[in-house]
Amino acid sequence: MKKTGILGSTGSIGTQTLEIVRNNSDLQVTALAAGSNVKKIEEQIREFSPRLAVLFDEEAARELRLRVADTKTEVLGGMEGLLEIAVMEEMEVLVTAIVGMIGIRPTIAAIEAGKTIALANKETLVTAGHIIMPLAKKNNVSILPVDSEHSAIFQSMHGENKSRVSKILLTASGGPFRGRKKEELADITVEDALKHPNWSMGRKITVDSSTLVNKGLEVIEAKWLFDVPPEKIQVVVHPQSIIHSMVEYVDGGIMAQLGMPDMKLPIQYALFYPDRRPMDGKRVDFFELSSITFEKPDMETFKGLALAYEAIKAGESMPTVYNAANERAVALFLDKKIRFPEIYELIEGAMGNHKAADAPSVEEILGAEAEAYEYINIRYQKMHR
Ligand code: NDP
Repeated sequence: MKKTGILGSTGSIGTQTLEIVRNNSDLQVTALAAGSNVKKIEEQIREFSPRLAVLFDEEAARELRLRVADTKTEVLGGMEGLLEIAVMEEMEVLVTAIVGMIGIRPTIAAIEAGKTIALANKETLVTAGHIIMPLAKKNNVSILPVDSEHSAIFQSMHGENKSRVSKILLTASGGPFRGRKKEELADITVEDALKHPNWSMGRKITVDSSTLVNKGLEVIEAKWLFDVPPEKIQVVVHPQSIIHSMVEYVDGGIMAQLGMPDMKLPIQYALFYPDRRPMDGKRVDFFELSSITFEKPDMETFKGLALAYEAIKAGESMPTVYNAANERAVALFLDKKIRFPEIYELIEGAMGNHKAADAPSVEEILGAEAEAYEYINIRYQKMHR
């Protein structure tokens, strides 16, 4: 029996992870955590009977405690609760599927406790990769990528000599606005941005896909996960999302992982690695597909990717500012308070305002996050006075 904890169990990755648990009787859920969704986590508690459940929002946690008082599940709240899950003795694998930088501290605690990490929460590596990767190495802990592109790269490196990698080819669908020009971005609505052509995901990451910030975050994540410099990570637009990413080796040979766009595959791969378990679902039919195409990303129109490369170059605290500014800007866009191109303006402004430094501590990372949030608040007020 493999015992699993899921941080972010009520979200898109979390609920798909639970679907995998339903289909594999040797997986057991020992802990669940979410932000504030009492109703959904209560349903999950009743179905999966974890030993511990956490809601970050303390008031929601109090309500949940009352609602599941008839079960054996203990309920905790806040960061303390998340950290408690991270170190649970019986847990072997922690799926980190929280959205945002809140995932950093529980991930560090789980690594220190020797837990295998199935990592979906990309903000953790983007902002604290320089802390997480050496710590995982020191504690002999595996960080198994859940993100489909990184899982594809991981699978394409299986059994290979990493020093023979010449470049990583990170694929991108191009998002719903691929082909549009700069002047066509101003009228994009929230509803348009939430229509991803191939993947069904949470709201924030769907908007990030449309701005190419998601691809930028993935480039930074890949740099840390695979220890490859950014100039060796090339983004290739592949609108059909069948090739999930590729690795080119020094002899010119390229290994790729292909499949239908379904997050359950990389989640399941991480949960059972190095085994491959059967999984139902539609298969790639090459005759039906008939062609797969590739393009250069338009980094001038969709600045999210170019800004990520700039952030890496500027210094290790800058990706935090890039990520935090984007987080706030996307929240404002989703609330219909700013227009689509203003997401870029806010990120650029916050990055311009930050003095980058290398090797920031967790406190300094959180400080850079707070600084970016404050900058966005002030800038937003000025923009909309
Ligand atoms: P969702 O928005 O669908 O879900 C987010 C989850 O995080 C919810 O369970 C939410 O709980 C929980 N959460 C939010 N804030 C807190 C908090 N402070 N403490 C504890 N839990 C919290 O996001 P996704 O599932 O789409 O994405 C999760 C992560 O995985 C992100 O980092 C994303 O970039 C990454 N990812 C996602 C992919 C996808 O296909 N969706 C693909 C690759 C990576 P509540 O419901 O209570 O708010």
